[in-house]
Amino acid sequence: MRVIGLTGGIASGKSTAAQYLAESGAHVIDADRLGHRVYEPGTPGFQKVVNAFGHDIVAKDGTIDRRILGGKVFGAPEQMERLNEIAWPEIKKLAAQEIKDAKQRGDDVIVLEAAVLLEAGWEDLVDEVWVVTTKVATAVERLRTRNGLSEDAAMARISSQMSNKERSDRADVKIENSGSVDDLQRRVQRHWKQLEKRAAEPAGKR
Ligand code: ADP
Repeated sequence: MRVIGLTGGIASGKSTAAQYLAESGAHVIDADRLGHRVYEPGTPGFQKVVNAFGHDIVAKDGTIDRRILGGKVFGAPEQMERLNEIAWPEIKKLAAQEIKDAKQRGDDVIVLEAAVLLEAGWEDLVDEVWVVTTKVATAVERLRTRNGLSEDAAMARISSQMSNKERSDRADVKIENSGSVDDLQRRVQRHWKQLEKRAAEPAGKR
């Protein structure tokens, strides 16, 4: 049994890599999806976010309007930090629970896919960290085609994040993804095979 933390910069290809891992049989937990649950009415996260950012972020249907909240935190680093201080521990609790459930079900390989794994300090939830990297120019191109961002907007998103080097320095497994999707699939497959050997070993911390 092995828990992998899969991370990487925006448009590095983590979701694509996670999809290949799922096809190989891993149980993938998507931290982004858990992030949405933190904003659901009736949860502790919801209450804390509303207390911190005001009732004007609550839409008519009682849910948090993420666009209004986004307007308060994007481009305002202190506010973003405040939101992260609330949201990250809540997401971590949900992730820990999902990992526990998957272990109880007997899933052999569990993948926590999380863009902010390292920033949020969730390494203690996983046995090993896998980092997907792509050249900055490639990430910019993907953000332009996938998200319709301008070059400047794409660069701003990339520069606001941890660099490839910082992430790679903390990785157990590095997956370069500046080539084709077939290259990525082959690399993921190779690491999967090596992982199967490690997964057969008794569970232990890194
Ligand atoms: P992330 O989850 O890191 O943001 P994604 O896996 O969603 O990244 O990939 C970003 C975009 O780039 C997606 O549209 C995906 O299909 C595409 N993509 C990923 N890897 C490659 C690749 N090697 N070649 C071409 N396109 C890719």
